[in-house]
Amino acid sequence: MKLFENFSLKDFNSFHVDVKAEKFVVIESTEELKEFFDEFDVNKNNLLLLGGGSNILFTKDVDSTILHLAFQNLSEVQEDNNFVLIEADAGMNWDELVKYSVEKNLGGIENLALIPGTVGAAPIQNIGAYGQELKDTLFQVKYFDMSDKKFKVLDNAHCKFGYRDSIFKNDLQYKFIITKVTLRLKKNPEPTVNYGNVENELKKSGITDPTIADVSCIIRKIRTEKLPDPAKIGNAGSFFKNPFVDDVTFQKIKNDFPDVPSFRQEGKVKIPAAWLIEKSGLKGFRKGDVGTYPNQPLVIVNYGNATGKEIYNFAMSIKQTVLEKFNIELEPEVNVI
Ligand SMILES: Cc1cc2nc3c(=O)[nH]c(=O)nc-3n(C[C@H](O)[C@H](O)[C@H](O)COP(=O)(O)OP(=O)(O)OC[C@H]3O[C@@H](n4cnc5c(N)ncnc54)[C@H](O)[C@@H]3O)c2cc1C
Repeated sequence: MKLFENFSLKDFNSFHVDVKAEKFVVIESTEELKEFFDEFDVNKNNLLLLGGGSNILFTKDVDSTILHLAFQNLSEVQEDNNFVLIEADAGMNWDELVKYSVEKNLGGIENLALIPGTVGAAPIQNIGAYGQELKDTLFQVKYFDMSDKKFKVLDNAHCKFGYRDSIFKNDLQYKFIITKVTLRLKKNPEPTVNYGNVENELKKSGITDPTIADVSCIIRKIRTEKLPDPAKIGNAGSFFKNPFVDDVTFQKIKNDFPDVPSFRQEGKVKIPAAWLIEKSGLKGFRKGDVGTYPNQPLVIVNYGNATGKEIYNFAMSIKQTVLEKFNIELEPEVNVI
């Protein structure tokens, strides 16, 4: 266990906002995690978990204690003719897990390549991209319950996964620390290519019968071209979730904008938030050091030394403009602290 005081979080959040944490504790194993709770009089309401900081916006210095899980082992725990169960520690980098699975030709998470952050944070918002979501392969989550200081296990069905949602954002909020994630990966994978321009890009590269490695590689290329690299331009990926609207609202928008893109899901219509922002005239809009990224307006970027408050205020002004134009309230995907 390593304890730091008055610790700069600039390198621990992908917006690169310069704030400080009163206490920053690095935990190197599950045993240390238990020790931390046994040794210190921890108030769970005054604790914040931080993985890679790629889905978080700090608007001020943090007076809670920050816990950063740094253990990152990986093991294949079970196998049958069709599947392999892989257990990864919370502190492992998500993309390293994707690379491992692709190298072994184990299918299910190859389309989630290049999503920043840690394995431990992945179930919280049920990360998803290019037609795959974590919930499709997640077998179980191991977590530490801060209420009774016990390690517990939740299987997939009990995680209550939804679009960028899970039990960890609702019933279990502020009570849990995810320590390990087990995935059930396919031994004979079938690539998922029918999302976005994956199929087109494969064709352009002359690939007609793609492997999961081909698909993962193409998705890396598409993402690199479309999204800003947080190491160079601060951002946290999509700032808002894609909103779901009812048929009446959708029809009204379609009357005015016949080209509105949409996806029907569970009786509602999902409209890309990026499209709403673009049609509100805000693609590439910039104010000081904050702006919407010209290639993908759903991504809000820190071009230099924007403060968390400036980024937050900018995001709220985007939300307000979209509300006034479309009567749709965008909801942040990023955790605002
Ligand atoms: C360029 C870019 C592209 C992105 N693309 C995508 C995408 O395609 N799809 C997608 O779904 N997301 C995407 N994201 C968002 C982000 O990568 C994911 O949400 C990721 O899972 C966050 O991981 P993290 O470790 O950085 O979490 P953090 O930002 O550190 O934390 C996120 C939340 O989880 C909590 N938390 C973290 N670890 C734990 C733990 N072990 N136990 C309990 N709580 C914990 C934190 O308190 C916080 O509330 C993108 C982000 C960026 C910067």
